[in-house]
Amino acid sequence: TDIQELLLSRIRDVADYPEPGVMFKDITPLLADPDAFTSLTGALAGIAADTGATKIVGLEARGFILGAPVAVHAGLGFIPVRKAGKLPGATLRQAYDLEYGSAEIEVHAEDLTSGDRILVVDDVLATGGTAEAAIRLIHRAGAEVAGVAVLMELAFLGGRGRLEPALAGAPLEAL
Ligand code: 5GP
Repeated sequence: TDIQELLLSRIRDVADYPEPGVMFKDITPLLADPDAFTSLTGALAGIAADTGATKIVGLEARGFILGAPVAVHAGLGFIPVRKAGKLPGATLRQAYDLEYGSAEIEVHAEDLTSGDRILVVDDVLATGGTAEAAIRLIHRAGAEVAGVAVLMELAFLGGRGRLEPALAGAPLEAL
């Protein structure tokens, strides 16, 4: 579609970042273009409405840049899922595996309630480890997952398959 072509044209490929052999998808040109940024957040807000989401969870850090305007567009609240050690209140914490080692993410436990249907928003789905950990956090808090919505899925890394069991039928939408 026209929107997909616009979005794709504003993503910059950066070779050998953050390490040799990796082609990084840089979204800063898209963020700097008001038409592309507005189209993207509008499309993600449409997914929030279609999935019946009641709140948006954004994943640090680019998921904050996208998730906050999506929440405002859609008239929903926003919940940050942060890297461990950044949130001041009582948190739920979830570990997940990286290529080398592991990482942890956290959410304020009281921000998620059992009646919530959460749409998880991020820029890029790569291996799916981050989104899978976020889904686990949401379920542990007693809330439901309405879906996961990203700008871009790097399909060759197999994230969709990794997420499938955790999603339990909820949609993964990649624009
Ligand atoms: P995963 O956990 O799916 O392997 O990695 C996804 C996370 O890493 C996302 O939060 C995303 O922002 C970041 N990420 C991984 N690869 C890329 C990339 O090529 N471009 C951007 N912008 N983010 C990436």
